[in-house]
Amino acid sequence: MNKPRALVVGMGIGGLATALRLHDIGWDSVLVERAAERRGAGYFVGMFGTGQAAATRLGMVDAIGNRTDPTSITYDVERDGRRRPGMGYGDLPGGPQLILRGDIEAALYDAVAPLAEMRFGTTPVAIEESADGVDVTLRTTTTTGTGETATTSEPSGETTERFDLVVGADGLRSTVRRLVFGPDADYLRPFHHIIGATILEEPVPGFRALDGVVLAEPGRSAWVFPFADHEPGLLFNYRTDDEDAQFRRPPIESLRKAFGPEPTGPVLGNLLDQFEAADDFLFDSVHQVVMPSWHTGRVVLLGDSAWCLTLYSGMGASSALAGADLLGTVLQRNHGNPARGLREWDMRLRPFIAGHQKNGRRDLVTFVPQTRRDKVTRTLTQTLLGNATGKRLMQRVFAPQFQEKSIDVAA
Ligand SMILES: Cc1cc2nc3c(=O)[nH]c(=O)nc-3n(C[C@H](O)[C@H](O)[C@H](O)COP(=O)(O)OP(=O)(O)OC[C@H]3O[C@@H](n4cnc5c(N)ncnc54)[C@H](O)[C@@H]3O)c2cc1C
Repeated sequence: MNKPRALVVGMGIGGLATALRLHDIGWDSVLVERAAERRGAGYFVGMFGTGQAAATRLGMVDAIGNRTDPTSITYDVERDGRRRPGMGYGDLPGGPQLILRGDIEAALYDAVAPLAEMRFGTTPVAIEESADGVDVTLRTTTTTGTGETATTSEPSGETTERFDLVVGADGLRSTVRRLVFGPDADYLRPFHHIIGATILEEPVPGFRALDGVVLAEPGRSAWVFPFADHEPGLLFNYRTDDEDAQFRRPPIESLRKAFGPEPTGPVLGNLLDQFEAADDFLFDSVHQVVMPSWHTGRVVLLGDSAWCLTLYSGMGASSALAGADLLGTVLQRNHGNPARGLREWDMRLRPFIAGHQKNGRRDLVTFVPQTRRDKVTRTLTQTLLGNATGKRLMQRVFAPQFQEKSIDVAA
């Protein structure tokens, strides 16, 4: 008997985890990725209990690893150089596993590569669904050169192929969503914040490589996330009323403007310089994706394309892993009837995702104080929590609020 065949669009965490899980339940997958090659380590990610449970079931938890350093100290700093020990991401209740996005992607990629067909430089350009299959036109682009020299891209062919299921795991600005469900504007909810993220080449002057650093001011912040055995991750955030203008000049110019006009001081100055020198960085606006349904009969969106929670929820990677794990479970249970499986999947995940979207909106202020009052509250809290007793107390008080991050929604 022929195995059912899925097209998985996107080789991020969601797409790779889906292909792995589909293989478990006896499906063949074709994975397509728009980029010409695999991407780099990315940025800091905290993986909470939900993701840890799904990664364990997928057999990936050891391969993903853990870069948490228990001796790390995170300092709140001011531009003038004042610093005080505060609370780091790893101190949060729920014991998030501190890693890089690339740790999850690399572990999944190595597991999936022998099991599925993978095509880089390939994207869907048309999707036609009927009762017994989905016809997808795929366009492949040949890129000349690799890495930074990969400048020439030419269409090298289009094929139309039939699949039993299409999984759009192609991120915030998903092509599958646009082709099947409609324009981005119908689903993207802007946060009016911009992020710039990269990996630091060297520790922040005056701090150990395994120290975290946070400079938080009303409407803007810079975070340095330390790892046990890797260069730290850097994250800038700032609020803006004019997102489009931020992309009309080089990212570093937008960042310097957003963090000006006051003198930067030594820490912020160094972080901006390091961002400017970085070859690989992310500079993007922050949006949630809110949709009334994530599927049709044979097309389903998963991960950021379906429900982008934003980095402020700390649950995007975890929910992509859990979503992929659960998708395999429902398709297996509803063998021969993917539409019923997708309905069950959507119903099961929806309250969980809605909760984390709410938390993402609430927790923005933790990353970026919105007002002077938020800044004062942050300073007071950090002062109270900057020692072992304060951290233990905080973990007890806030434990219930963080329990949702450990729900094993795919069990
Ligand atoms: C700075 C930052 C910090 C974060 N911190 C955390 C955290 O602490 N904890 C956490 O759980 N989550 C965090 N997240 C969120 C998490 O990284 C994402 O939710 C998760 O990586 C989403 O995975 P995905 O596979 O759904 O999408 P993506 O990672 O966006 O992957 C989509 C893939 O599809 C490809 N693609 C796009 N369009 C096409 C196309 N047309 N055809 C083919 N391929 C296509 C892309 O190139 C990409 O490879 C953070 C995010 C950011 C930006």
